[in-house]
Amino acid sequence: MLTLKEDKILSKNKRIVYEIFNLNPFTTFSVNRLLEIINKDAQVMSKRTVFRAVKKLIETGKIYCSEMKNRTRSFELSKNNYCVMTCEICGEKNFVKISDNNIDQILMAYYDFSLKRLAIEVRGVCEKCC
Ligand SMILES: [Zn+2]
Repeated sequence: MLTLKEDKILSKNKRIVYEIFNLNPFTTFSVNRLLEIINKDAQVMSKRTVFRAVKKLIETGKIYCSEMKNRTRSFELSKNNYCVMTCEICGEKNFVKISDNNIDQILMAYYDFSLKRLAIEVRGVCEKCC
């Protein structure tokens, strides 16, 4: 059980960590990467604190573990559905947020599948390279 003071500190840290996810909605972050970003200029948060904030954000459904590579877990925003368009000539990527869709209800109805994130990848040629 957290004391009131600890809870307030955690809430502030949780907001700082959550803000990084919101500012970079199409990016996954490991705890170490979050730590690098937060402590870029000065040591303001310990790894343990970042880890606790991430754990809380997972518990509240704000983020989820999207991949596990070399024993490192990466996290990204939940319910963040998007389309990424990649130009096959210059490699430029553009992201478009997908909202107002009922894909999660469809998946639940037909496959009993709980949607965490929907990402559609489109490959083609961008305006500049046409
Ligand atoms: Zn291009």
